Amino acid sequence: MDSTEFRKRGMEMVEYICNYLETLGERRVTPSVEPGYLRHLLPSEAPHEPEDWDQIMNDVEDKIMPGVTHWQHPRFHAYFPAGNSFPSILGDMLGDGIGCIGFSWAASPACTELETIVLDWLGKAIGLPDHFLALKEGSTGGGVIQTSASECVLVTMLAARAQALKRLKAQHPFVEEGHLLSKLMAYCSKEAHSCVEKAAMICFVKLRILEPDENASLRGQTIGEAMEEDELQGLVPFFVSTTLGTTGSCAFDNLPEIGNELKKFPCVWLHVDAAYAGNSFICPELKPLLKGIEYADSFNTNPNKWLLTNFDCSTLWVRDRIRLTSALVVDPLYLKHGYSDAAIDYRHWGVPLSRRFRSLKLWFVLRSYGISGLQHYIRHHIKLAKRFEELVLKDKRFEICNQVKLGLVCFRLKGSDKLNEKLLSTINESGKLHMVPASVNDRYIIRFCAVAQNATAEDIDYAWDIIVDVANELLEKEQH
Ligand code: PLP
Repeated sequence: MDSTEFRKRGMEMVEYICNYLETLGERRVTPSVEPGYLRHLLPSEAPHEPEDWDQIMNDVEDKIMPGVTHWQHPRFHAYFPAGNSFPSILGDMLGDGIGCIGFSWAASPACTELETIVLDWLGKAIGLPDHFLALKEGSTGGGVIQTSASECVLVTMLAARAQALKRLKAQHPFVEEGHLLSKLMAYCSKEAHSCVEKAAMICFVKLRILEPDENASLRGQTIGEAMEEDELQGLVPFFVSTTLGTTGSCAFDNLPEIGNELKKFPCVWLHVDAAYAGNSFICPELKPLLKGIEYADSFNTNPNKWLLTNFDCSTLWVRDRIRLTSALVVDPLYLKHGYSDAAIDYRHWGVPLSRRFRSLKLWFVLRSYGISGLQHYIRHHIKLAKRFEELVLKDKRFEICNQVKLGLVCFRLKGSDKLNEKLLSTINESGKLHMVPASVNDRYIIRFCAVAQNATAEDIDYAWDIIVDVANELLEKEQH
């Protein structure tokens, strides 16, 4: 493909994307295909000779689209939103066009510097303390874009582990490092995302999973008691991962209490995972949900969830960037450059070396919508969630299972888990609506999230009508 054809095909692709997004509501939300469906439709080997572009695009519509789950669909209410917007798509397109690999400042100065600036912009908008900002006088912190929240949790746990091992090694210089490692204990709530467990597996450290209270919120006393117990057993608490906006029910750990408790354990790294909810803190009225952030060593949120930015764009801020990078620095000669001491090299802030120009899309989004436009978007989703909550509350056969603070409503039919499982599977099989379940406080609940960028009140009402229709059928069957 030369640039003349790229111009033509690029225009066609924009047209295809616009048509796709504008007519999405006419498709099934979820595909009705079986595993292996695509293997039967595509050849088993790559073509030896070049193929015609039109033929490739025909196959997109005929073979790929039937197997796509449409996350931007107005009746997709599963998981959390997958951020998407035209400015963001254009940002990714430009980043792909530039095609630089910004692992160090020298590898592409604008790629590094824009990331630092944009992360400071977003950090300020969210209301993070100044010590998380890279360009604030006297600050030792800063922000970085990672691929996912899982990676944010992993790198902060790696940094905390390196710091703890260094300290233990200084205290016990003749004890083997493997033995010291076996003493380290990390903590999180049962409601924390499974990525904390995965990070502990990768870091080869123990993880103590703690019971939250009846509102799915981890409390300070629970953490404090667990750490004291573990210390008595000769273990070394080194890392706590808290969550603001849990995946299951968008619950909030009690950060002020936990931070206060951790004053007794000053060497413990406190991480705050706000993958979904963190984006909403750009709204002044939601900033109280961030209370206690002053105690944290690191904080992450995913603009690629709830800030109209396409995957991947997971933002992480740390209080002390040296503590992060000292766990991750490797410095071969071929990566050194003349400004290594004066500039940020983001390759030291994460696992991969190569990095895409991801800040472009976030910059485009922040500039095109402005903070006010993004606040409007967040508030719109919250309003839709509140509308859904009201509909559920009006029907006495149902109950609400979470405190609806943001865009997620958890609900269930009053009845057995089995009945609710049947309700959800019947709805999902219909292809008209898509939701996923969660287990919160050991109860099966159904999650309904406001997801589509331009979802309307009618979309919410329509979704509720489908839920009620299926529930009526099920309950009627149960009676006979
Ligand atoms: N943390 C929380 C609170 C989440 O809700 C999620 C995903 O929904 C994750 C972490 C994992 O996110 P990622 O897919 O970016 O790793």
